[in-house]
Amino acid sequence: MLVLGIETSCDESGVALYDSEQGLLAHQLHTQMAMHAEYGGVVPELASRDHIRRILPLTEACLKSAGKTLRDIDAIAYTEGPGLAGALLVGASVANALAFALDKPVIGIHHLEGHLLSPLLATPAPTFPFIALLVSGGHSQLMEVTGVGQYTLLGETLDDAAGEAFDKTAKLLGLGYPGGPALSRLAEQGNPKRFSLPRPMLHSPDLDFSFSGLKTAVLTLVREQKQLDDSTRADICAAFQEAMVEVLVAKSLKALKQTGHRQLVIAGGVGANKQLRQHLDAAASRKRFSVFYPPLEFCTDNGAMIAFAGALRLSQAQRGSGSFGVRPRWDLGSLCAVDPT
Ligand code: ATP
Ligand code: MG
Ligand code: FE
Repeated sequence: MLVLGIETSCDESGVALYDSEQGLLAHQLHTQMAMHAEYGGVVPELASRDHIRRILPLTEACLKSAGKTLRDIDAIAYTEGPGLAGALLVGASVANALAFALDKPVIGIHHLEGHLLSPLLATPAPTFPFIALLVSGGHSQLMEVTGVGQYTLLGETLDDAAGEAFDKTAKLLGLGYPGGPALSRLAEQGNPKRFSLPRPMLHSPDLDFSFSGLKTAVLTLVREQKQLDDSTRADICAAFQEAMVEVLVAKSLKALKQTGHRQLVIAGGVGANKQLRQHLDAAASRKRFSVFYPPLEFCTDNGAMIAFAGALRLSQAQRGSGSFGVRPRWDLGSLCAVDPT
């Protein structure tokens, strides 16, 4: 079955073709980052308008690079939520219009389910059940995953998401938007021991996180500096990243211990962080569990994860209802499970 996947939940227009036998055939992505950077964050109305401009040319380019035409598509999957309402509506409208014109099934996908299942696109892939650490721009959650659609929330952030904390900290260090990748690049040149930053909730008995205090601690530190030269900024970045990584690794290990699972899956944009990957890999060989990541290019938003999640759900004969809407707010735990038999 050939599935066209469309992602427009925020500031990336992503389109992909996933074939249930042959795997991922092609994918195309346009990021609006440069457009929003001027404003220091995503402007929803600009995001929707840009998705409108991009989505059809991206779809055509994707079909062309896979050597396929619209007629070859068996089904269409799109991001139904959560995300920006106007941006979601673009993908939902295009997907449903195409499905209607081609007389093919269409299915709305939960964006976080897309992220969560994206490590299955890599080889080797994890098998169910596993623990997932989902660390993106809008979410930080630890989840027990026992099958497609079977997600139990174990813990989550009480305030900022991990990616949001990276971005806000980068912004106050003058690293632009979104600053997560820039912060982590600068951290490589810094000394993480020069400044000591808090590890929020590191020893709390639950699996929750809190990152806003860490960001505030950086703000205080920045204000205390007589001069914020490049080497001081690099040292602050290194200290911040070390604190983030230590908390994320510790809580992931705790979730594995509590549930007895031996596989850990990392998903979402922060999963691209090199230091996080190094520390998790080290912990995995020390504690004898396996850790899985999405292919690097599929850590942040993309169409491939949506096409893939769609293929998994559609193979179980799940279909959309014929009418469509979007769900800007949507609880992942409310999804229906897919019977693996
Ligand atoms: P959500 O999926 O929760 O709706 P989102 O789609 O905006 O949010 P993603 O696209 O998964 O989030 O990830 C983007 C986030 O990942 C940004 O906050 C970005 O700074 C962060 N990020 C990307 N690369 C890195 C990196 N190397 N180190 C740290 N953070 C990173
Ligand atoms: Mg994005
Ligand atoms: Fe995302």
